[in-house]
Amino acid sequence: MIMMEAYILDLDGVIFRGSEVIAGAPDAVNRLRKSARVVFLTNNSTQSRDAVSARLNASGIRCRGSDVITAGYAAAVYIRKRYGAQKIYPIGEAGLIHELKAEGHEIYPGGHEDLGEGSGEDMGKDAVADFVVVGLDRDFTYKKLRIGLQNILAGAGLIATNTDPLLPVEHGFLPGAGAIVRALETASGRSAFVIGKPNPPMMDAVIDHLGLPAHECTLVGDRLETDILAGSRYGMKTVLVLSGVETAESVRQSRIKPDAVIRSIAELREL
Ligand SMILES: [Mg+2]
Repeated sequence: MIMMEAYILDLDGVIFRGSEVIAGAPDAVNRLRKSARVVFLTNNSTQSRDAVSARLNASGIRCRGSDVITAGYAAAVYIRKRYGAQKIYPIGEAGLIHELKAEGHEIYPGGHEDLGEGSGEDMGKDAVADFVVVGLDRDFTYKKLRIGLQNILAGAGLIATNTDPLLPVEHGFLPGAGAIVRALETASGRSAFVIGKPNPPMMDAVIDHLGLPAHECTLVGDRLETDILAGSRYGMKTVLVLSGVETAESVRQSRIKPDAVIRSIAELREL
């Protein structure tokens, strides 16, 4: 069977809100899968692709790890393709570290989890990572900021999985990776190279994965500045759901115009 069309679905605010599944999302996704390809595209780097896929399957959405593209995975692939295997100081959670290692990168300083007090303070030249890669880290500390800064000042590149300011959860919002990236940018005076939506590395990763022209893809997301902007820049159809970050009011006020606005993915019918 030749399936021409593809749906690219954001996760936070579209399928999940914090640990909860958005009502009707599993039926809507499984319905789409009957006639189109479906991939999941998330700026969230906290979980590995396999962990995200396990979570989707546990929620009644059938998929494989290879159907999931996280910003952590896209960062790991981008660095490998452009620079080969590198030494990386990650500020992020298990999913980011997993994807970096899976692409052959070395976590640096070794161990990461067991950085002793004072680590990063007398770094010789050999102790400098090639890149500091930053994602959402709910155990972010001043010490990680300090080690990240010292690596950057010693010559490491600064790469952000994403700069989303907020993460929508069950009853409100958490600070997103963007808040942590800004801390490093402020301290170092450098600007991060950003992988996630709406930037090209993430969008190129999903286009490569699908092997389809962009106009045959529909991107469904909850955020105008990332999802909808990215989709329209690439000539995809775009659908905004109001189950995440945006409201009817923020949509009215934005210059970024989705092709369709629906309350949640449960209302999605093939366009
Ligand atoms: Mg989202």
